[in-house]
Amino acid sequence: MRIKNLPPIFIDSHRNKTFALFALDMCPSHGIPSLDFRRIFGYIYETICSRTLMKYYIKTFGCQMNVSDSERIASVLEKSGLKPASNINEADFVVFNTCGVRQMAEDRVYGQIHNLKTKNKKLKTKVILTGCLANRKDVQKRLHGKVDLFCEISDFKKFENFVIKNCLKIKNLKLKIPAQKRPELNQEGIAYLSINPKYSNAHQAFVPIMTGCNNFCAYCVVPYARGREVSRPPHEIIREIKSLIKVGYKHIILLGQNVNSYKYTEKDPTLAGLRSDLKITNFSKLLRKINGISSHFWISFISSHPKDVTQEFIETVTSLKKVCEYVHLPIQAGDDKVLKYMNRKYTAKNYLALVKKIQATFEKYKPKEIYSLTTDIIVGFPGETKKQFLETAAIMNKVPYDMVYLGQYSPRPGTAAWKLKDDVSKKEKARRERFLNEILKKSAYENNRKYVGKIFEVLVESKKNGFYFGKTRTMKNVKFASKQKKLIGKFLKLEITKANIWNLEARLDSQRPLVDARRGKIIK
Ligand code: SF4
Repeated sequence: MRIKNLPPIFIDSHRNKTFALFALDMCPSHGIPSLDFRRIFGYIYETICSRTLMKYYIKTFGCQMNVSDSERIASVLEKSGLKPASNINEADFVVFNTCGVRQMAEDRVYGQIHNLKTKNKKLKTKVILTGCLANRKDVQKRLHGKVDLFCEISDFKKFENFVIKNCLKIKNLKLKIPAQKRPELNQEGIAYLSINPKYSNAHQAFVPIMTGCNNFCAYCVVPYARGREVSRPPHEIIREIKSLIKVGYKHIILLGQNVNSYKYTEKDPTLAGLRSDLKITNFSKLLRKINGISSHFWISFISSHPKDVTQEFIETVTSLKKVCEYVHLPIQAGDDKVLKYMNRKYTAKNYLALVKKIQATFEKYKPKEIYSLTTDIIVGFPGETKKQFLETAAIMNKVPYDMVYLGQYSPRPGTAAWKLKDDVSKKEKARRERFLNEILKKSAYENNRKYVGKIFEVLVESKKNGFYFGKTRTMKNVKFASKQKKLIGKFLKLEITKANIWNLEARLDSQRPLVDARRGKIIK
């Protein structure tokens, strides 16, 4: 431990109390305040905030990574004594965790901030904007005067300092916080992931394993909004998952913009004296470590990039017992020229070869087992002709997808494609999306029919209007009726009775012989 800073002094002028910190526990190599610092800071902060009954509200847009980040923001705020507000108008602090992937998501943020600020003119609500839009100069200009803090998601220090200063300001208290040395960018980018999140679901947890992206797909804001790829140390990921399993979590979803490029390099003392004493953990190794944690739980992950799919990756995901039979492999477009303009670094032929390998390896390791393939597709990328679009449709006719997340191209400032003419009309983009959706409906329904009459393990997630809802290991939505109570969060073996396009129906008790989906055998 090194003492680096002078003690910060916190003065609560309401009660005439002074808190003083005499030492900060700093990371020896980078000067990053360690968790001990956060504990001490949190204690003082909590004392102040809980006494002043401050409330927060988080509005999350976009992907699961943002959901997971919001769980960390909630955790930091609650550890500091703030309470969640039941609605946005009640909150002292409103955090907008934004998504910049489509213009629509961006417009919703503008609309909601505008509404909040016009309705709450007299209130002292502080608005914090984080996520994909936080760094964009045009967004900052547009929301000038309406947003009180623009803050990168990884910059929790700025976030904490802002909240504490304003908690005190609102309550007319005084505070002095010493300037902190900013951690190096690379460390800062990942340090926030070590904050324990306030998980929003009691059975299924998002666990980020990496953040950022190095791929610079022409349409995507992620490399600009989140920076380059940084992987979390494996021991930290394993520790988080073990603690989740210990308290009963059943489904661990590993998150990252590009999980299959996960790579963590560390010194291995057992290799000392050799040419290289470095130990590398890649995604497959990490999966095997997680699979080795004893207890019954599921592992799934999103999202993977086709260019980083290796034979080792395919063998690992299709063979490990706890890894769900679900592979999401975004293709984005089916025409090679469009893929090149998108900077995706594979051809349609490469992609189809990967799908074939995945299918064959599932057959090898989990014969007769049903698995699920899903993808992302963008329609109407600049210059995409009707003929090129039909190549995408052709891929969908070849790969029996269970789900395709379809999106109409939306120009994003700062990306390479921003400079290209957005020349496919809105009407034509909508037509292309509908066209692909019809193909998807057919493949999803055909796949779902294979489930009927067989038994599947289902994780029960919710209950509404007398029906329970859950998911299979292939991420199919399942609906069933039962008079039994307290089934949420349980693994059940259910017989699938009906296939619909977007979900399956099931029953809990059956008099008929049941077929085990894994082995195709009748269960007595
Ligand atoms: S791989 Fe491409 S689409 Fe995915 S996050 Fe990275 S840049 Fe964006």
